[in-house]
Amino acid sequence: MSHKITQKIVGYKVVNKEEQAQLDTQANAQTQDLELMHETLKRPEVLFGTTYKIKTPQSEHAMYITINDMVLNAGTEFEERHPYEIFINSKNMEHFQWVLALTRLISAVWRKGGDACFLVDELKGVFDPKGGYFKKGGVYMPSLVAEIGCAIESHLKRMGIMKGHEMEHHQKAFLETKRQEFEASVQAVQNASEGFPEQASLCGKCHVKAAIVMDGCVTCLNCGESKCG
Ligand SMILES: [Zn+2]
Repeated sequence: MSHKITQKIVGYKVVNKEEQAQLDTQANAQTQDLELMHETLKRPEVLFGTTYKIKTPQSEHAMYITINDMVLNAGTEFEERHPYEIFINSKNMEHFQWVLALTRLISAVWRKGGDACFLVDELKGVFDPKGGYFKKGGVYMPSLVAEIGCAIESHLKRMGIMKGHEMEHHQKAFLETKRQEFEASVQAVQNASEGFPEQASLCGKCHVKAAIVMDGCVTCLNCGESKCG
């Protein structure tokens, strides 16, 4: 298929395999008259959802995030789930108006259809000027908004819409030997609930307190990020 470019080229992007596959599915769906997510799609009376409980050290009250999904093309081979709406509840009313506004905007984006995974990155990139906090397991959470982003991310991953970053087998094995060497050298007291050595510092890439210094190199035991290649 040829396409004449009449305007000045100001940017370009190469379509990768996944995007191509998605475009193909969309083209397929159009020819087969399949149901797609769009804003005029009528909301069914009943939607199934998942509720995530989030407890932050910033408030004594937990936050409950409910995400309801829409099932499209139910019963066909093109059956898929799409997030449709999000509700956030808490006894703590401190952030009420912002959280409510955020949930309405997120729901609106989902109902428009298309790939909404960018929301996760946008939310996770929000930093609280008062400083974030550490969660169990040494994960640094830069803000409450980022926490909401993480909840949505785990929901999308569970639905298979977003893919997790899986480490290669040899990389896992390499990190395990690094970890054993480190623990042997400093006789680290490992806290079973935390999972990573106590001396580990915060990794700049995955925000988990899992970066150790070995042979002058900083290596993250969680995501494998290393300053020495
Ligand atoms: Zn890391």
